[in-house]
Amino acid sequence: MTPQLFNTLSTQVEPLIPADGKTLTLYACGPTVYDYGHIGNFRTFVHVDLLRRFLEQQGIAVKHVMNITDVDDKIIRNAAAQGVSIAEYTPRYERAFLEDLRALGCLDPVLMPHATENIPEMVALIQTLEKRGLAYRTEDGSWYFRIQGDPEYGKLSKKDLSGNTAGARVDVDEYEKDSASDFAMWKAAKPGEHAWDTVLGHGRPGWHIECSAMAMKFLGETLDLHAGGEDLMFPHHENEIAQSESATGKLFARHWMHVRFLLVEGRKMSKSEGNFFTLRDLLLRGYRASAIRFLLLSVPYRHQLNFTFDGLAESASAVERLRTFRQRVQHGPWPAGENADLLTQSNQAAHAFTAALSNDLNTAEARAAIFDLVRHANTAADHGQLLQGNVQPILNALTRFDQVFNVLEDRDTAIARGALAWAEQEGKLTEAATELQASLELSDADIESLVAQRSDAKKSRNFARADAIRNDLAAKGILLEDSKDGVRWKRK
Ligand code: AMP
Ligand code: ZN
Repeated sequence: MTPQLFNTLSTQVEPLIPADGKTLTLYACGPTVYDYGHIGNFRTFVHVDLLRRFLEQQGIAVKHVMNITDVDDKIIRNAAAQGVSIAEYTPRYERAFLEDLRALGCLDPVLMPHATENIPEMVALIQTLEKRGLAYRTEDGSWYFRIQGDPEYGKLSKKDLSGNTAGARVDVDEYEKDSASDFAMWKAAKPGEHAWDTVLGHGRPGWHIECSAMAMKFLGETLDLHAGGEDLMFPHHENEIAQSESATGKLFARHWMHVRFLLVEGRKMSKSEGNFFTLRDLLLRGYRASAIRFLLLSVPYRHQLNFTFDGLAESASAVERLRTFRQRVQHGPWPAGENADLLTQSNQAAHAFTAALSNDLNTAEARAAIFDLVRHANTAADHGQLLQGNVQPILNALTRFDQVFNVLEDRDTAIARGALAWAEQEGKLTEAATELQASLELSDADIESLVAQRSDAKKSRNFARADAIRNDLAAKGILLEDSKDGVRWKRK
């Protein structure tokens, strides 16, 4: 089944195929490391991760490159306000970004080039554009791209440029849709600003040239796929296309993927609106990264998703349901034999899962396919109809699901500990955070061992000891559930 993905450039759902038939080259715009990321930013990154995991599951290798923008207007402004250099300012936010990315179950990109380490390639690209008559220098020593020299400018965002005035210029990295203008590729340094001495003069690169230069340096002149959030389509990606294609004369990216926004009460989650949550904020409120990842993925990437705490709670209990189900199936004991209907349902679920993701990453249908199986299998188990021969096919379907969704294990322990240490220091420990803290003191193996001790205590009719263990665990947010299949535990 060839995966199909909507292509913003062609406006069609199209097969996603590596040009060399083996390895898909993917460039996904990375973070600007000027602050902690919010979960809106991560909606984009977890969908790119899901796509990559799915392609790999389908036997397509992915060379995933994500840039780290470690110089831009905001970084320069914030570093100056703190009286530190940009090199002193950015590492802590880059570290936090990577911690969050990993806690959210994302694979590390294969390469994470830094803008500040690829300045010569950016300079060379601007020089090429100058030779082709598409770059010009202004009096202050900045360099701009001449959009009127590029007849295809606007082809990604489908902008009508008829009202555009020749020579109108913009020098900020981010600007609005109605201001298609010549944009800065190189900015002359203002006094005291971080700058490089190059043949272009004393200055620094603009944001758009960074991505053009790094994408082509690490992945070649034509990429299979370029991805980012919907806000990057214009001007950022449009400008990347203009710069790259004007320099090489080749198509820059064959496929473009844009992930739509995470909203809060109908508005984009963003730093400037002040309506944002970081991963750390939510961990301190007692939510786990797995639940956040599942929430961000449950609505397909081409639909906006409205963030609510009810939605997050629903997502947490959905993850819990899957974990409980897996434990139940694993533990048994199940009668010998094989239930043919349930076997068919397991195979159908696995097939429907893959078909849904192949169809423009329909994560909602993929999720529904797995929950259908959970329902069928639980009903069968309740009636003694889940048989030994059904266990492996069910677990296989769950494994296939989790290779892509990656929510059945928690991976946020280290960062949750970090967030808690910070909250403690600041005197901001909430009740949920205290409970999380207590629960993190126990590893899964510790809990298993206590659960076994409690079962032994019960067997030897030492009920006081058994109850004491249960109560201690409950105080640490770990709930035990006795069922006819044995004892199950979960972190609240
Ligand atoms: P930034 O660090 O602001 O450059 O953003 C990093 C990535 O997050 C970009 O791909 C943005 O398009 C994306 N992004 C920012 N805000 C949101 C949001 N509310 N929902 C989804 N993606 C977002
Ligand atoms: Zn970019």
